[in-house]
Amino acid sequence: MQELILLKLGELVLKGLNRHTFEERLCSNIRRRIHPYGKFQVTSKQSTIYVEPLNEDADLDGAFDACRRIFGIVALSKAHPCEKTKEAILEAAKTYLKEQLESAKTFKVESKRADKNFPMTSIQLSQYVGGELDDLFPNLTADMHHPELVVNVEVREKAAYVHGNPEQGAGGLPVSINGVGVSLLSGGIDSPVSTYMMAKRGLALDFVHFFSPPYTSDQAKEKVVELAQLLTPYTGRTILHIVPFTEIQEEIRKNCPEEYFTLIMRRFMMRIAQRVGERIGAGCIVTGECLGQVASQTLEAMRSTEDACDLPVFRPLVGMDKEEIVSVSRKIGTFGTSILPYEDCCTVFTPRHPKTHPQLDEVRAAEAALPIRELVERALAGEEKLKLKW
Ligand code: ATP
Ligand code: MG
Repeated sequence: MQELILLKLGELVLKGLNRHTFEERLCSNIRRRIHPYGKFQVTSKQSTIYVEPLNEDADLDGAFDACRRIFGIVALSKAHPCEKTKEAILEAAKTYLKEQLESAKTFKVESKRADKNFPMTSIQLSQYVGGELDDLFPNLTADMHHPELVVNVEVREKAAYVHGNPEQGAGGLPVSINGVGVSLLSGGIDSPVSTYMMAKRGLALDFVHFFSPPYTSDQAKEKVVELAQLLTPYTGRTILHIVPFTEIQEEIRKNCPEEYFTLIMRRFMMRIAQRVGERIGAGCIVTGECLGQVASQTLEAMRSTEDACDLPVFRPLVGMDKEEIVSVSRKIGTFGTSILPYEDCCTVFTPRHPKTHPQLDEVRAAEAALPIRELVERALAGEEKLKLKW
């Protein structure tokens, strides 16, 4: 029998009637994500998903690594299947976990018995396997409370499975069980993190990026494509909508009071995001805004921003410190790209003295001279769509 991967479901087990549909979604997310690594069977039983290679060529390590970043999974282990006898189980533990058993100082055996026909109770099985391992590996002492190594034995329907300490999974909920959103993706540190955080809550996300050539360079755009690509192990396949923003910014500069430039620009971003959202059936817009981080992220500024769209605006970073955001950004691997020094359209035409506590009616009045609908249409007409796969 071939080594396989066992995945433990997180919050999904609390989902009552929808649970089955959600599990199916998770399984199909997994199938799609591990497809490049060969032929696998993915099945879900008793709060566990089994990922079994169907031939010798399948790259189990590659698939395992992919599963680390799939939301909905709290723990993952590579496991060895064996016959459902106590001798076979002991033999599997001894050989499959040999290195870990030789290097650990303390251990315990934890058995689960989903197959109630198995002739020993879980406790008896743990005692048997634990006792034998204790004799075989003189370096080991049993420790029931804080063992370095847990030898897990699961007796299930088809076989028994032996594995060591599980690894922590990505957590969260399977992408797309909670609907669809539009994430505004800039080249900064924040928006890749906000995207990651909402994908983690089970949202399927399309990305929208605004660029303003010639004020922003091709490299700035490439950087965003790269960030979007770096997010796909979490979000799954997605679409990056790249929308030209130059005309809007130039019109704002020509026709609006300077102190409102950024606020008005952000309102255009929301209008366009809303339009993209309507097209893809989105139920929300996601941004990387954070309370008080910059002038356009005060309470009044955020209110004036979201006044321009109907969809709810989710700002998962709103209560986080920069340091906390940076640490997530490092963890998910976007930080290095985010800090590449290319300009964003937000940094073009920034007012010298931006309005930090704008009144809604003042902002609306400040943009009144603009042909808003036409500008939005023309920007959307120049939209470029990039399909991203992991
Ligand atoms: P980030 O680090 O994500 O760029 P920021 O701290 O620089 O954020 P702003 O520039 O005010 O803050 O942008 C706030 C949010 O607006 C961003 O997090 C992002 O969601 C969105 N945004 C900003 N610029 C763009 C852009 N060029 N394209 C798409 N969305 C953008
Ligand atoms: Mg930015």
